[in-house]
Amino acid sequence: MPELPEVETTRRGIAPYIEGQEVTEVLVRQSRLRVPVPDDLAERLVGARIGVLKRRAKYLQLPIQSVSALECDADATLLWHLGMSGSLRIARVGDLSKKHDHVDVVMASGYVLRYHDPRRFGFVDWQANDETQDKRLAHLGPEPLSDAFNGKWLYTLSRNKRVAVKPFLMDNQVVVGAGNIYAAEALFMAGIDPRRAAGRVSRARYDALALAVKEVLAAAITQGGTTLRDFVSGQGEPGYFAQRLNVYGRHGQPCLRCGTELRRITLGQRASVFCPGCQR
Ligand SMILES: [Zn+2]
Repeated sequence: MPELPEVETTRRGIAPYIEGQEVTEVLVRQSRLRVPVPDDLAERLVGARIGVLKRRAKYLQLPIQSVSALECDADATLLWHLGMSGSLRIARVGDLSKKHDHVDVVMASGYVLRYHDPRRFGFVDWQANDETQDKRLAHLGPEPLSDAFNGKWLYTLSRNKRVAVKPFLMDNQVVVGAGNIYAAEALFMAGIDPRRAAGRVSRARYDALALAVKEVLAAAITQGGTTLRDFVSGQGEPGYFAQRLNVYGRHGQPCLRCGTELRRITLGQRASVFCPGCQR
């Protein structure tokens, strides 16, 4: 499943090919995605210009600006989510589509933004005009790489919470982007037992945890940068970035820090690997 680093890498990879471009054609080969592709997608996109591509949590936000000054109400934002298996790539006009290439947005430059999604859990839809009113975005916690996400935030939010710290960290109202891999790795880096009650983690340890979350996500994004060339002509199926993981997927193997055998447990219905030796 594309996680926040993959979505951020996608944003960086496709932005230079679509920002400021005028849309000349929209092709919808399959409209039954998780949310049906809006009927007015082509009507509103063709002739419009794509603004500066943004990301919030795992949503990509494409602002659409009307080229014609006569249409003053045409400004809108498309929300694109990659679901479980979706990817956005840059193709060129004339490149043959493959199976599961559901949506093409053709630009005047000859580049095509192409959406591929075998499982069709992703979607493209109009965002509410006021972002704070969009039910998909309104309740999201802070971005992990922003200053709003820090130890003080985690500490304040967790007081009196009996939920284990790992599902607490994975709650996207607490912070977005701390998926299972990144939560497991960050807790290991901070030396915190994933089973510990969120309300019983000290401020100093939350400072370390917030830094670890930022570090592990930033490293994944940097890693993703090396695959940027894969965004043109749809060669790659990048999947997960080949990141060096300390605990995730390593249960039964020795801890790289202390040698203790890593354990796997289930927490909040998710598999969780940790080191009983150095996570307290
Ligand atoms: Zn250890």
